[in-house]
Formats: sequence, C-alpha cells, structure tokens
Amino acid sequence: MNVYGLLGNPVGHSRSPPMHEAAYDELDMDARYVTFEPDAIAPAIEGAKALGIRGLNVTIPFKEDVLAHVEPDSLAERIGAVNTVDFSTSPPTGHNTDAAGARRAFERHDVSLDGKSAVLVGAGGAARAVAFMLADEGSTVAIANRTVARATSLADAVNGVGGEETATAHGLDELPELVADADVLVNATSVGMDSDETPVPADALHADLAVMDAVYSPLETRLLREASARGATTIDGAWMLLFQGVVAFELWTGRDAPVKRMDAALRRRL
Ligand code: NAP
Repeated sequence: MNVYGLLGNPVGHSRSPPMHEAAYDELDMDARYVTFEPDAIAPAIEGAKALGIRGLNVTIPFKEDVLAHVEPDSLAERIGAVNTVDFSTSPPTGHNTDAAGARRAFERHDVSLDGKSAVLVGAGGAARAVAFMLADEGSTVAIANRTVARATSLADAVNGVGGEETATAHGLDELPELVADADVLVNATSVGMDSDETPVPADALHADLAVMDAVYSPLETRLLREASARGATTIDGAWMLLFQGVVAFELWTGRDAPVKRMDAALRRRL
C-alpha cells in the first residue's frame, strides 16, 4: 500500500484526506492519505523517508521551514514555501501547488490572466503563491495589504533584482481606486473566514471583474456575494483548494486526477 499524507499542526479539520482518498477509490489504487502533527519538521521528513511514504502535503506552520530539508523547484524557491513533497527522488523534491491550484481555478472558469491588471489583497502565505502565479501568467499585480511593509517585500520579490515593475505595493485604503481599473481581484487574506466581513468595499466591484476568494469557509463569502450581485465572475476558495490537491496527486502518481470525484468529495465537506 502507498502512503501519502499531510504534515501540519493542527491538521484535524483538513479536507485533504477525503479528497485524496476519493481519488484512490475512483482509480482503484491501494493507497491511504494520513494526517500527521509532528512537533518539528526535520525528524518528520527523515521519518517519512525511512517509512517509505510516497508524498506529503505540508501546511502551517511548516511550509517555510521544510524548504531546508528538500530540494525545492524554482517556483517553490521563489515563493519561499513548499506545500508538496515528492519522495520518489533523493533528496525529496519540494513544490508549491497552491500557485498551480490558483492558476487552474482561473482556467476552469475560462479567465485568462495574460496582459490583465490584477489586484491581490493580502501578503501572507497564500498571497505569495498567488502573486508569483499572476506575474508568471502575464498579469500586472497591485498588492494591497493591511501591513504595507509586507506588500512591499512581496512586490520586491516578484519584481526580482532590477526586474520590471510587474508588482506594486499598496495599503488597503487604495483598494477602491485599484479595483475600479482592474480585470482580476483575488482575496488572499483571512478576512471573511467564518465571518460576514469583506476586505473590499462593495461599491468598488464591477461586472468586468473576475473575483477569486482564497477563503473557502463559507464557500460564498461576502466578497463573492457582493461581486456576484454586481455581475462579476466569481471563483470560490474550494477551486484553489481542489486544484492544489489535483496537482499534488498528479505529481506523486503520474496519473490524471479524477477531478470531478475529488471536487465532489471536497464540496461535501465544506
Ligand atoms: P497568513 O499567512 O496568516 O496571511 C494572512 C493575511 O491576511 C495577511 O495578508 C494579513 O495581513 C491578512 N489579514 C488577517 N487579518 C486581517 C484583517 N483583520 N484585516 C486585514 N487583513 C488581515 O494566512 P494564509 O495562509 O495566507 O491564508 C490566508 C487565507 O487563505 C486563509 O483564510 C486560508 O484559509 C486561505 N487559504 C486558502 C487556500 C486555498 O487553497 N483555497 C490555500 C491557502 C490559504 P497582515 O500581513 O497585515 O497581517
């Protein structure tokens, strides 16, 4: 039997086990997906190697620290975080499938990102992955964050040393003006999670926007509800969550993921 899993602390409420196990079931694979809550990342990676674990997702608080214990691919290195470890190589390789997950969520909704003007709210872990993805897909990215210094540091990382001004940094007070001219809006803050709050004033939203919320609890956040009421295309947080899992599954197994079955298993638990 092949063992995959999730390393984090806490991981008790993770939706990844049912999503991955639905894929194993659909493809008749002899595999299990297990959650682990280690105290430290180094022994956990060594232990996983020794036990022959095939692949691990990694979440808070280990996404950054795990970089030192795996061979990160160039995207994970630029983002500064790994959420997927593949143990089929020695040393194991580290990837960031949050970025590909967000890209595939836009693709699934026929939203092209090339040459677009995007506004990204947030500068934490999820935002870092989305910022690099948007820039790599050809969008300009205005990053607005409560702590402006974090937005500045993320914009500098995206632009690279002496690079183009693909990304700019802003405070949340600039959102109305930024969003009025934007094609794409992503909320990657935790605002709206289990609450009826939104980081973006409703008046700024318009019908020419595609709005993605990384928050998946509730599925229809206030931001998405208000965007939808103004005629915008909306993409809920379950799409990014689904596709980061799909990309991890495909990386570990080399097989096409049964996306519909994984989506159904995930949405049943959200
Ligand atoms: P994080 O690293 O802790 O970052 C949190 C972000 O939210 C920061 O930008 C922070 O701003 C901002 N923020 C928090 N409280 C705020 C408030 N009251 N007002 C304004 N801004 C506030 O968290 P994360 O890992 O990036 O996760 C962010 C959200 O994305 C969470 O809801 C998480 O569940 C979700 N997420 C979804 C997926 C998915 O696949 N759908 C993947 C990853 C994360 P400061 O910098 O000023 O503190």
